Amino acid sequence: MNLSSYKSTSMKNTENQFAASSRGLYFNTGNGSTLQPVDIGHRDYMGLVDPDTAFWALVRKEHLGKTLSDGPLLRKYRRKAAAFAREMHSFRFELKPSAVYFNPTERCNLNCSYCYLPQTMRRSGGHMAKAELDTALARLRDFFKRTLPDAVKPQIIFHGAEPMLNRQALFPALDQFKDDFRFGIQTNGTLLDDEAIEFLTARNTAIGLSLDADVESIASRTRKTWGGNSVFDKVIQTIGKLKGYPNCSVICTVTRENVRRLVQIVEFFHGLEIPACMLNPIRCTQKGARPIKPDDHEQSRHFFKALDRTYELYQETGRKLVVANFANILVAILAPQARRLMCDISPCGGGRCFFAVSAKGELFPCSEFIGLSEFNGGNLFKDKVEDVLQSAAFRKVTERKVEDIDPCRRCAVRHFCGSPCPAEAHEMNGGMHRTGAFCEHYEDQVRYAFRLIADNRHEAFLWNNWDADTKTSFEMFSL
Ligand code: SF4
Ligand code: SF4
Repeated sequence: MNLSSYKSTSMKNTENQFAASSRGLYFNTGNGSTLQPVDIGHRDYMGLVDPDTAFWALVRKEHLGKTLSDGPLLRKYRRKAAAFAREMHSFRFELKPSAVYFNPTERCNLNCSYCYLPQTMRRSGGHMAKAELDTALARLRDFFKRTLPDAVKPQIIFHGAEPMLNRQALFPALDQFKDDFRFGIQTNGTLLDDEAIEFLTARNTAIGLSLDADVESIASRTRKTWGGNSVFDKVIQTIGKLKGYPNCSVICTVTRENVRRLVQIVEFFHGLEIPACMLNPIRCTQKGARPIKPDDHEQSRHFFKALDRTYELYQETGRKLVVANFANILVAILAPQARRLMCDISPCGGGRCFFAVSAKGELFPCSEFIGLSEFNGGNLFKDKVEDVLQSAAFRKVTERKVEDIDPCRRCAVRHFCGSPCPAEAHEMNGGMHRTGAFCEHYEDQVRYAFRLIADNRHEAFLWNNWDADTKTSFEMFSL
């Protein structure tokens, strides 16, 4: 049996506008559809991927030749390919921003090894005053009213440094602008006291916490106070208080310090009844992060053991721990437009699906660029957001695409990976047209995801109802 199932969130009719005289009768030549064979590391199946549309099929190895000859797959896909190409183009180039990562302070009470913000800023930077915060949110509300349909409620995620250090400005704003935005907060969790938890959960604010290990000795290697003290117990305490709150997740940044403990970490998170976590590869934008970057193959090996363990835990308990950064890649394969995170598509979401506001009101394509002044596109208090989105600083990010990057332009999985992250590419690898820090880890993740699909185990790794807003636009179980 061969498998192909491709879901869309929208479908438009289109006409074949290719100029060449070829009728497109064959795969991989002339105007024919492109399907690149990909070894997914499965005993029975090979992947076939159209790198331009992200369409795929899983084909039994012994049927590969027959499948690539004139047959039902070619005939059926030929009718759909142009529409899928249009859909992918619109997803990549025609979205409007609907979220903002908002830094209400430059300061942080921790000094984590891999932070993307410069130390001087985090140590002695300033807070955004309450009146400024209100003005900033009002300006963002007006921008979104001009650009988004009424039915779409944009999202504001208060983000680090440590947003809870400016709680006195932030909490009143959550009430004042509750009709205008959905709110979230990404915090190190050390300043969330009972009153703050009550306040945020009563308003269904999304809460993201950070924790890098299941044991203090390892967690404290990367996340600690300026004086070098551990915050492990405090964060665990906070997670305990949030038990049962569905709008909560934990980010674990994977480094050489904790990569060998990923299995124990997911067991620990599952035991704490955390519904979703991220096991994010460390971003290497800042120099301080690079010495603790694991090798790609080591990262993949332990990451997949951890994913396997989440599967077992789900079988044993009936309760999922979704590893959201991987789930997003699975969704990118199953229904490209339904993905929730926008690092794994090219151009990435920075500056086109969302943007970031610094504590001084400066606008950047993504928080990852705060601290890199050449990516400052303007100021929220002075400039019109629409103009900033078109600034040269933003366009450097929004115009970075896989087709211009080697080897991504030849890579079959480029629309499941997206070649993240432009900030890393620029700072670590020498320019926007370079890859980021983890090419091979992305290849590995896509191969692992295809193996799950081949074995029909993928739903166990996804959020419940992840496909509620999708419709199936191509399905074929036997070719
Ligand atoms: S890839 Fe990098 S710049 Fe783009 S959205 Fe992700 S973190 Fe931000
Ligand atoms: S970074 Fe690597 S896996 Fe990702 S698109 Fe580029 S070549 Fe492919």
